[in-house]
Amino acid sequence: MAEFTMELNDEQKEVRDWIHGFAADVVRPAAAEWDEREETPWPVIQEAAKIGLYSLDFYAQQFFDPTGLGIPMAMEELFWGDAGIALSIVGTGLAAVGVLANGTEEQIGTWVPQMYGDANDVKVAAFCSSEPDAGSDVAAMRTRAVYDEAKDEWVLNGTKTWATNGGIANVHVVVAVVDPDVGSKGHASFIVPPNTPGLSQGQKFKKHGIRASHTAEVVLENVRVPGHCLLGGKEKLDERLARAREKAKAGGERVKNAAMATFEASRPAVGAMAVGTARAAYEEALEYAKTRSQFGRPIIDNQGVAFQLADMRTQIDAARLLVWRASWMATTGKPFTSAEGSMSKLFASEVAKKVTAQAVQIFGGNGFTREYPVERMHRDAAIYTIFEGTSEIQRLVIARTLSGMPIR
Ligand SMILES: Cc1cc2nc3c(=O)[nH]c(=O)nc-3n(C[C@H](O)[C@H](O)[C@H](O)COP(=O)(O)OP(=O)(O)OC[C@H]3O[C@@H](n4cnc5c(N)ncnc54)[C@H](O)[C@@H]3O)c2cc1C
Repeated sequence: MAEFTMELNDEQKEVRDWIHGFAADVVRPAAAEWDEREETPWPVIQEAAKIGLYSLDFYAQQFFDPTGLGIPMAMEELFWGDAGIALSIVGTGLAAVGVLANGTEEQIGTWVPQMYGDANDVKVAAFCSSEPDAGSDVAAMRTRAVYDEAKDEWVLNGTKTWATNGGIANVHVVVAVVDPDVGSKGHASFIVPPNTPGLSQGQKFKKHGIRASHTAEVVLENVRVPGHCLLGGKEKLDERLARAREKAKAGGERVKNAAMATFEASRPAVGAMAVGTARAAYEEALEYAKTRSQFGRPIIDNQGVAFQLADMRTQIDAARLLVWRASWMATTGKPFTSAEGSMSKLFASEVAKKVTAQAVQIFGGNGFTREYPVERMHRDAAIYTIFEGTSEIQRLVIARTLSGMPIR
């Protein structure tokens, strides 16, 4: 039986240090510029591709780390560098996971390489699920996919919103309704190949934080994709729909909201991103508190400041432990009987918001300016309690899981 350990092994430390080096030498120095420009940092993504950090291989290696810590470790280090740039680097991974989770081997082999491109011609991908009237309530999705049997094509119509890399992606993964009678069980994911007519970018959002990451609406007008672009294939979809219709006919359980459960497994990774941002702000604040003097002594000499730093660090470490526990459970096949995935995302994202606000406070007036990175980190941290399920939705998932009650 494996011994319990809280220590990373040598291989993990090596990978962590390698990513940290890239985050410190390439990502952090570029952060302020791309935050101001509010554009995708293509040259940084290209740098990441050149060293193999922007590739499916890299994520696959981390994903298959038997301890489960590969992905959270990578996320923490990259997001420590800068959240906006890091999201530009890992955003493609979110779409790739959509294909890896539902696609056939052939679909994975065809589409995932096109999502990343290569180091000389990098590409990005987008995962489009949210809609203007279907955010937390994914089951309210309206984008339709209708099968045209004569041509073996699917026809997609609807408007997606908040898509990371939406409109600039080479490959879009679009979730759409194929059978509106069975709620989210009637949803299916489709690949929209590069340059498909009918797909266009709507509004690009001007955001509060993670401004180096492109977020936009994606409009789908009679977008026709070949039958083989349905992830998982038609046979599997038909079987799934038949089961869902049977259940619905038998008056079975009302279909559950997918946003509340489906992403449970991916939530620790978002928690790890939040830990990265929180740790970056804490480190900046600690250094500043040791070097900034008022009343003839460093400000850390005041308990009011020192205790804040003690709390910040304690909460960051606690958040990381929850993230690591959930990641370990997911990898080793332990069921989330207490919604441990949601717990980790909820706690880490709330910690990131709080710790970055404390960091701004410790920097005083300087913390309120764009001259110092904590101002950006504070804006960036606000995303973690919103995307991949808001904090309220995490609490709902946890409360329902613990109680077994249909808490609303
Ligand atoms: C920068 C950014 C990037 C994103 N990237 C992507 C992406 O790549 N792909 C994608 O598909 N989506 C993406 N999203 C969408 C994101 O997942 C949604 O914004 C999120 O799920 C919340 O949905 P909403 O914005 O519609 O808020 P709403 O669902 O309208 O929620 C508004 C408020 O009501 C609360 N609320 C709602 N329902 C309940 C309830 N039952 N109980 C208690 N409180 C409730 C929420 O917690 C929130 O505080 C992104 C969003 C942002 C901002």
